[in-house]
Amino acid sequence: MELVDLRSDTVTRPTDGMRRAMAEAEVGDDVYGEDPTGNALEERVAALLGHEAGLFVPSGSLGNQLGVRVLVPAGGELLCDRLAHVVRAELGGHAVLGGVTTRTWTAPRGRLDPEAVIAMAAPDAGPYLVSTRAVAVEDTHNFGGGTVQDLAAMQALRAWADASGVALHLDGARLWNAHVATGTPLAELGALFDTVSVCLSKGLGAPVGSVLVASRERIAEARVWRKRYGAGMRQIGVLAAAGLHALDHHVERLADDHARARRLAEALAAVRPDVVDPADVETNIVVLDLARGPSAPALAAAARERGVLVSVLGTHVARLVTHLDVGDPGIELAAGVLGELVQEPGPTAA
Ligand SMILES: *Cc1c(COP(=O)(O)O)cnc(C)c1O
Repeated sequence: MELVDLRSDTVTRPTDGMRRAMAEAEVGDDVYGEDPTGNALEERVAALLGHEAGLFVPSGSLGNQLGVRVLVPAGGELLCDRLAHVVRAELGGHAVLGGVTTRTWTAPRGRLDPEAVIAMAAPDAGPYLVSTRAVAVEDTHNFGGGTVQDLAAMQALRAWADASGVALHLDGARLWNAHVATGTPLAELGALFDTVSVCLSKGLGAPVGSVLVASRERIAEARVWRKRYGAGMRQIGVLAAAGLHALDHHVERLADDHARARRLAEALAAVRPDVVDPADVETNIVVLDLARGPSAPALAAAARERGVLVSVLGTHVARLVTHLDVGDPGIELAAGVLGELVQEPGPTAA
């Protein structure tokens, strides 16, 4: 049975064209700074995002780790929302490896409210309290359901950051999706932050890789930490070539993923309007609220039997993510299967 895998956009496999680009990549030793394809990717992503320099890293978690690392000294504080990937899905790395403490704000759907951030920040807390050194923003917001951050909200945060001396990190794992959904130039988004991490291995379909961008000075420091963490890599050109290919071929097509996510949400809302509001689907992520009906684990297990894979984010929360490897027939199949399953009465149904 052909599976329709909607668990994540990380499950994409490299296309034939991407594999050819990888096979033909010019390579060298990147620890010596001699991998031409890796260097080209770093320069291209830095320029795209309005920054001076870039650093190829094997994962988005390491991109965030290094981005925060160069902004927040040990014992300093990072603020982020309570659903942020940096505090929820990086296994405490910022605390364990960087000595960073965190405080979180509550953000419905992960949406940035600059006033709430500014109210809780303590840029210069003196000798007894922890000082806020950076704020992390996530765009699009993963656990918020693919939420696109409001440009004016990020601009307001930037203005405050300039005045207060607090730095800003952007977890832009899916910044490509935000760019395609809004049309806001990547450079305009990227330039609002001091460090930006973007993933090549989500919707863009590369097998491995993220890029951190920042000033030349900060990237030089991040390069040292990357090696110290054991992620100094050698012939990265085979991986970087996949990223370059993805930038050439897989950015604009994210609009297709967004349209398919919306269609899936509309199909499910047509049978169970309480499960999802299609208006909440801004990009390629659909979050199902299963407060009534089958639990998320029950839905996921039943869907798997019928060839559709979904993520369980909580007892009553399931997540569907559209991507390069799911076309229209897959979406029709998933809409049919999930549409039937969400109608089944669950243990909490009257
Ligand atoms: C996927 C993701 C990351 C990084 O994930 P890796 O699996 O470490 O590459 C970071 N932030 C967000 C919001 C993500 O969705």
